[in-house]
Amino acid sequence: MNATPAADTPVVQVKCLVWDLDNTLWRGTLLEDPDTPLGDDVRRTVTELDERGVLQSVASKNDHDLAWDRLRRLGVADLFVLPEIGWGPKSASVRRIAERLNFAPGAMAFIDDQPAERAEVAFHLPDVRCYPAELAAGLTARPEFTPAARTVDSGRRRRMYQAGFRRDAERASFTGPDHDFLRSLESVLTLARATAPDLSRVEELTLRTSQMNATGVHYPDSLLRTLLADPAHEVLVATLTDRFGPHGAVGVVLVERHRPVWHLKLLATSCRVVSFGVGAVIVNWLVDQAARCGTHLVADFRPTDRNRIMEIAYRFAGFTEESCVCHTALALAPVDGIQRLHLHPASRPAPDTMRLTAPDL
Ligand SMILES: [Zn+2]
Repeated sequence: MNATPAADTPVVQVKCLVWDLDNTLWRGTLLEDPDTPLGDDVRRTVTELDERGVLQSVASKNDHDLAWDRLRRLGVADLFVLPEIGWGPKSASVRRIAERLNFAPGAMAFIDDQPAERAEVAFHLPDVRCYPAELAAGLTARPEFTPAARTVDSGRRRRMYQAGFRRDAERASFTGPDHDFLRSLESVLTLARATAPDLSRVEELTLRTSQMNATGVHYPDSLLRTLLADPAHEVLVATLTDRFGPHGAVGVVLVERHRPVWHLKLLATSCRVVSFGVGAVIVNWLVDQAARCGTHLVADFRPTDRNRIMEIAYRFAGFTEESCVCHTALALAPVDGIQRLHLHPASRPAPDTMRLTAPDL
């Protein structure tokens, strides 16, 4: 399978917008007017960006409790993650928010009515896009706030992050072995055959998951769409949920079935769930499925400087470089330095850290 590069480079999307409060999010200054109003146009902007999956935060020089209480009374407090309300420099606030979200400064934006505050942020963080308050109502019309595709996960991205913060806090305070913590999450991993509406999530995963993409190959939407219609290919999407909430789509598997061998062409999982062992659970499941069908498995693998953990998952499952007669059944010679790892599968037990729901292949 040849990798097809993305056609043209889209505008770099804003993944998190940080709002000033006084005279930006709301009209007026809270310390002078405890009932500062939130304009309909700004409320619409905040709601619409949330539905598009753009995260939003706050950097405000204000009394923390007063300002947070005002956001709650306005009914919008839940729409903001990791608010920074205090008296420190705003560049430090924006930097902390980006670090906690694991976003590059170029994925951050900042909106403030004060030119001096925008200049302070721009000086320390030149990649952060800064907007004056009067542009607030028009942000949703700008390309950098308009993702190419709206997916199931973009509509709940903020809630997924909020669940993640609660999960991380509990993990940090959990005193037992990590294995016990994973079991306490009551996780359910669901593998399902992809449908057309899933494809944009799948493409997003193969683009975003360089750390956990076994081949580093980007499968564009159009190619996956063709493969969905091909009975020899299985395109599966993995979603994970636990008692804190959904993680959304966390993995994609692409397998081509030949008679004596299944060819695992793509396995990518989100770096958000590396610590939950999702990659290993998927490999284990596929090995078990192949064993039931009496077929060999060949997995494409290309080492990069970021996907070592995926190699470990394959090696741990028993994949080796051994040559086998089944290789001759594969359609094309490997390209671009991709290794073909081989396994003669035996049946595997179900995972003990999560419940797995999956179709029989
Ligand atoms: Zn073989």
